[in-house]
Amino acid sequence: MADHNQTAPGELEVVRKFINTWSIPNDTRLETDALPELTRMQNRWSEAFPGKARSRTDTLTELQRLRSDLRRACQGTADGDRILNAWFRDAALVLRSRIDEGATRLTVEPRGTGFADYIVATVANAIASGEWSRLKTCPGCQWAFFDHTRNGGKRWCGMTKGGPDGRACGTIAKVAAYRAREAVKTHVG
Ligand SMILES: [Zn+2]
Repeated sequence: MADHNQTAPGELEVVRKFINTWSIPNDTRLETDALPELTRMQNRWSEAFPGKARSRTDTLTELQRLRSDLRRACQGTADGDRILNAWFRDAALVLRSRIDEGATRLTVEPRGTGFADYIVATVANAIASGEWSRLKTCPGCQWAFFDHTRNGGKRWCGMTKGGPDGRACGTIAKVAAYRAREAVKTHVG
């Protein structure tokens, strides 16, 4: 079902996965950070981010800082510009002209092999393509998902439970709003 397709296109999916290394799983409902284990165990890192190297500057602290900044930035607040611009200023990036299906395109690429630089470059390319604004975090559970709807108006991770990451945040919010309205009615009546 299209509603449950949360996967971002191309390289942006790596950014989404990275953002979701912090999550509140359905079963435990406890805030969980996978980054300490991922940065400690190379095999777990390779499983999570195949083919993506980590340089010496990609410390746990630095990656956690990047992740938390990306979470704030993809909520679409005015602050997002300032946050992203600080990363664009500090990251080792290079502009590259590349011929893609006969057309010359300008892409931002990391200068070295650092993971943080790669993520920042990917975010820059996603802003240029317009895809960045469709990467969102659910106001209920904070899960990052890609909005595939035609009008880009999706707010919640999913309206119904279903699929491996299925939650019912939108439904829970609707029920809560309904109960709140009913409570007001009862109070007034
Ligand atoms: Zn949610």
